[in-house]
Amino acid sequence: MADLSAFSESYPEARAKFLDAAGAHVRHYDHPQKGLFLDVATIGDAQAPHVFAVGCGTHGIEGYSGSGALVHWLRSGVAKRLPRDTAVVAFHAHNPWGFANRTRVTEENVDLNRNFVDFSRPRPANPHYAEVHEIVTPQRWDEETVAEVFRKLAAFKARVGEQAFSDAYNGGQYTHADGLFYGGARAQWGNSAFRRAVTENLRHARKAAFMDLHTGIGPRYGHVYLTFAPSGSPAYARARAWWGDRAVNREGVTHKAVAVYRGVLLDAFAEMLPQAEVTTIVVEFGTLAREGMQRAGMLQRWMRFEGPRHPERLPALQREYDEAFYPSEPRWREAVLAQSLDFLERGARGVSAS
Ligand SMILES: [Zn+2]
Repeated sequence: MADLSAFSESYPEARAKFLDAAGAHVRHYDHPQKGLFLDVATIGDAQAPHVFAVGCGTHGIEGYSGSGALVHWLRSGVAKRLPRDTAVVAFHAHNPWGFANRTRVTEENVDLNRNFVDFSRPRPANPHYAEVHEIVTPQRWDEETVAEVFRKLAAFKARVGEQAFSDAYNGGQYTHADGLFYGGARAQWGNSAFRRAVTENLRHARKAAFMDLHTGIGPRYGHVYLTFAPSGSPAYARARAWWGDRAVNREGVTHKAVAVYRGVLLDAFAEMLPQAEVTTIVVEFGTLAREGMQRAGMLQRWMRFEGPRHPERLPALQREYDEAFYPSEPRWREAVLAQSLDFLERGARGVSAS
C-alpha cells in the first residue's frame, strides 16, 4: 500500500502539509476571508531564468488531488534534482474558498477558470446557454427529476450537435449568476491574486511553463492532458516533446467534443509574460464518466441555491459530490501520486532543457 499521507481532508490540513513540504521561500496572498490564502512557493533560485510553475485548486475542491500530488512531489526531493538555472514555483489553492468549502466555484458561484476575461469589454456571448439553464436548474433533486433532466439534455444535444452542446454547457456563460460554468461579472479574488503572484514570482523568467492540475475529465485511475496551443505552434511542439503525443492528441478524453473555453487561467499566465517562452498545459485526473460529472455539477448548484431549504439532505449529497471530485478510494489516490511524479518531473526537465 502506497503512502497516502500527502492527501488531506480539509483545507487547513492541506495548506499545512504544503507549507511544510515547500520549504522557506513562500509568499502568501490573503483572501478576504480569514484563514484562506493562495500560497506560492519557490524551490530553487528565485531568479532562475527557467521556471516550471504548477498550481492546483483553480476549481476549489479539485485542489485536494492537486495538493496531494504537489506535496508528494515536493517531499520526494525535487529541489535536489533541479539544474541551477531552473526553479519550481508551486501555487497552492488558486480558489481557496472553493477548496475550503468543497465546491468547484468561488464565493460568487463563479467558475474561476472562465473568469480571466477582459471585464472592460463586453463579455463573451453564449446564446445557447439560456436553453441549457432551463434544463439544468431543477427545483427538486431526486432520481426522477435527474432522469428527466438528462432526457432533455440528450434531446438538446441531438438537435444542436456535440460541439455546440459542449460550448453551450461547459464553455462558460456570463448571463446567469445562479447557473453552471458562470464566468462572473467581475474579476474574482482568485483572478487578481493569481495575476499578482505571477508578476511577483515569475516576471524575471525567460522560459516558463505552467501546469494547472484539475480533476474530472478522463478515465478513472488515469489522467488526460489538455493543451490549448494551436497545432503546429512552438508551444504545441514543446508540450509534445516534454510529455509525448498524449499531451496534444487528447488521448483519454471521453467527451466527444471538448468545449472552446473562455477566460481560462492559463491564458492569463501566457499574456502576463510576453517576454518569456511560455508553455502551458492542464492535467485532469479522471474520476467519473461525463454524465456523472454533469450530475455532480448540477448537484452542486442545487445544494447552493435550493439546499438551504433542505438542510437535512445536504451532508449525504455533499458526500456524493466529494466522491466525484476527490474520490476516497485508495487505488484512485495511489494512481494520482504515481502519475503526477512522472509528469511533474517531465515538466521540470522540459523547461530546464528547452
Ligand atoms: Zn477543473
